[in-house]
Amino acid sequence: MIRSNISIISETGVEEPGILLQDRSFSIEGMGSSIIEQMMNIPDLSDLHIAGLSQIPLGKLRKNAVRLHAVCRYKKGVKKTDEISPVSVRCIDIHPRALNIRWERYANFLLFHEYLHALGFSNHGKEFRRLEALWHDPEAREMGRSFSLHLRKMNARWIWFCPACEIKHLKSKRSNGRYNCRLCLCSLIDVKN
Ligand SMILES: [Zn+2]
Ligand SMILES: [Zn+2]
Repeated sequence: MIRSNISIISETGVEEPGILLQDRSFSIEGMGSSIIEQMMNIPDLSDLHIAGLSQIPLGKLRKNAVRLHAVCRYKKGVKKTDEISPVSVRCIDIHPRALNIRWERYANFLLFHEYLHALGFSNHGKEFRRLEALWHDPEAREMGRSFSLHLRKMNARWIWFCPACEIKHLKSKRSNGRYNCRLCLCSLIDVKN
């Protein structure tokens, strides 16, 4: 499971208009087989039941999920302390907003991470972290922070706008006239995002 544990106090700035190639989405199934193929080429994983990973149904989290980026759900009755293998897994869900060209590297890393859980490493222990670090794209892991920020922005329904400074803050709730601009102390107004 990957959750963000950073707290973002204030989000300034607005999402650049979502256009172009980078928003084009791709299929999660195609991603699955390519990750499995790459895992088969990692010598440290060769003792594990990697072929079994292809049986695991892949799905998507809710689009408005903010904290959770991906999850490996075990079947009913399976406990984390049991011996876990791909047959213990009900499904793996990835955040739908990661399934596009812009976030592709991070999505690949997410699925690799969840596949490690499916192979029997249910916790983020030392061995899990060692295997996780074998992924060929270490920078992809660092994309988690910016992905969290991206989700916050995408889910913001309101902009708290300072009419004097023209500064925008993306928020999920209205300010209802209760907040003032930190710079000029003007009352912030609510604009629908
Ligand atoms: Zn995890
Ligand atoms: Zn202001």
